[in-house]
Amino acid sequence: MKRILLTLSPEQAADKQLITKAVAREVHLPSQSLYGWHIVKRSIDARQRQPKVLLTIDACLSQEETLIPPYDKPVYQDVSAPGTPEVNIIGMGPAGLFAALTLIEHGIRPVIYERGKEVSLRKMDIARLNRNEGLSPESNYCFGEGGAGTFSDGKLFSRSSKRGNMQRVMELFHYFGADDTVLYEAHAHIGSDRLPSIIRRMRETILQHGGQVHFDTCVTALDLSRPTILAIGHSAHDTYRLLDKSGIRMEPKGLAMGVRVEHPQTLIDQIMYHGSPLRAQGLLPAASYSLVTQVHNRFGQRGVYSFCMCPGGHIVPAATEAQSIIVNGMSASHRNSPYANSGIVVELHPEDLREGCSAIEWLAFQEQLEHLAWLHGADVAGAPLSAIAPAQRLDDFVAGRDSHDLPKCSYLPGCIPSRLDQWLPPVIGDSLRQGFADFGRKYPGFLTHDAVILGVESRSSSAIRIPRNPETMAHPDSPNLYPAGEGAGYAGGITSSALDGIRVAQALSTRLLNS
Ligand SMILES: Cc1cc2nc3c(=O)[nH]c(=O)nc-3n(C[C@H](O)[C@H](O)[C@H](O)COP(=O)(O)OP(=O)(O)OC[C@H]3O[C@@H](n4cnc5c(N)ncnc54)[C@H](O)[C@@H]3O)c2cc1C
Repeated sequence: MKRILLTLSPEQAADKQLITKAVAREVHLPSQSLYGWHIVKRSIDARQRQPKVLLTIDACLSQEETLIPPYDKPVYQDVSAPGTPEVNIIGMGPAGLFAALTLIEHGIRPVIYERGKEVSLRKMDIARLNRNEGLSPESNYCFGEGGAGTFSDGKLFSRSSKRGNMQRVMELFHYFGADDTVLYEAHAHIGSDRLPSIIRRMRETILQHGGQVHFDTCVTALDLSRPTILAIGHSAHDTYRLLDKSGIRMEPKGLAMGVRVEHPQTLIDQIMYHGSPLRAQGLLPAASYSLVTQVHNRFGQRGVYSFCMCPGGHIVPAATEAQSIIVNGMSASHRNSPYANSGIVVELHPEDLREGCSAIEWLAFQEQLEHLAWLHGADVAGAPLSAIAPAQRLDDFVAGRDSHDLPKCSYLPGCIPSRLDQWLPPVIGDSLRQGFADFGRKYPGFLTHDAVILGVESRSSSAIRIPRNPETMAHPDSPNLYPAGEGAGYAGGITSSALDGIRVAQALSTRLLNS
């Protein structure tokens, strides 16, 4: 096997025969003597006028070498026998699911409690929400089988080795049904249409090996007589309040809040691919962007950045409680909607509220903003039970003026014109205005009348950190409590939450199997 790097034009990269020729040239063999090749990593470099495709390829030089990148398949034990050690898991998002699978690998039975429904029933509640027929507080974009990851964009980005073996998470997604690209794409993406079946296969594996899953079961009291992995995500504010009442120590942490912006995808393609015709010819995917800037204003220096960019995607209603509007984004595997959206958020710190602010006060600050969005959206629209979001054209927001109408938008429940520039807390509003102006300077065309912003994007990360011992992974005050995933403040996104679930389950297995 020989690893080589190729830089190709999008036309060349779309042609397997041309790749084979280029690989053969690199390994100094005639094409017919090459046993095959597979892509280890693929990315697009669109910084230059002519976008390039960068490929890392393993060339197979002998018959024994396999074409599919080899990885160790997981070996799940039978954990159904009486007397098998048991661990409770609260929450069945990526952290809870991957923790459960890891426990089974170690011969430990997971018993999962999930407040929401199984994925096929959850789909119906989400469809109702999008038809504006009301929110089901226990079954929505955040709660239910697979957690917030199920109907998400399914971007599996982080390859950082700092938090552990991200590649292993990709391999497990592949094992449960994701296509080969998750093994090599630099910006792998599963899509909200494919995630549910992957999640279902994970659940079936857990059940087949003797694990237990209890849907429609919201944990409302903590029993820590048995080890418990707490993988509740960052949206279960009622559960944080339960922890607080139960005396579990938590800390407020920095988070980022703002709005979701949406442009026509063709405009983003034009900006990011410098007008290249290759996109229209289908040789380049829907373009994405990653924007970041630092602004200075009366609140000091603030980072303003794009978050969870969804090319060819939809803006979705992601609230879990009534009288609150929260927006987020997702896309299907083909990324073929005519819209491009992303969260544009501002860094915030608990000290912005007050020095020494508590975790629960910090949550309340987040909730106030979400309620404000409801007051200016659904409530003002005269449909208080709906998910109608307040919205403003992007150029009107930056200039501080009314939007008399709104452009077409992917957000199905609907929007109503609103002066977000006037009601967003100034630390967010001022910073966003400066941030958007800067993005407009750097990317001419971005700051346009054809773009719209919707409020509010408030759940980009957890507002809370639940402390834990970095070695044992247990809460320092509660040796049977194992905080995990995004809601515990140790992850952000599907892959890192999954990985955190694996790490916590490994630490817990070591303890249980050695005691
Ligand atoms: C619309 C949307 C799009 C997203 N797109 C992406 C993306 O493209 N890429 C990416 O990496 N990330 C994305 N994210 C974020 C990602 O989904 C989360 O980071 C990830 O799911 C966090 O995993 P987790 O397991 O820690 O928590 P969660 O996935 O939030 O799961 C927590 C689970 O715990 C359950 N729960 C909570 N409280 C209780 C209780 N008291 N009792 C029982 N069960 C409880 C919840 O119902 C939920 O199922 C997106 C999120 C949303 C909402």
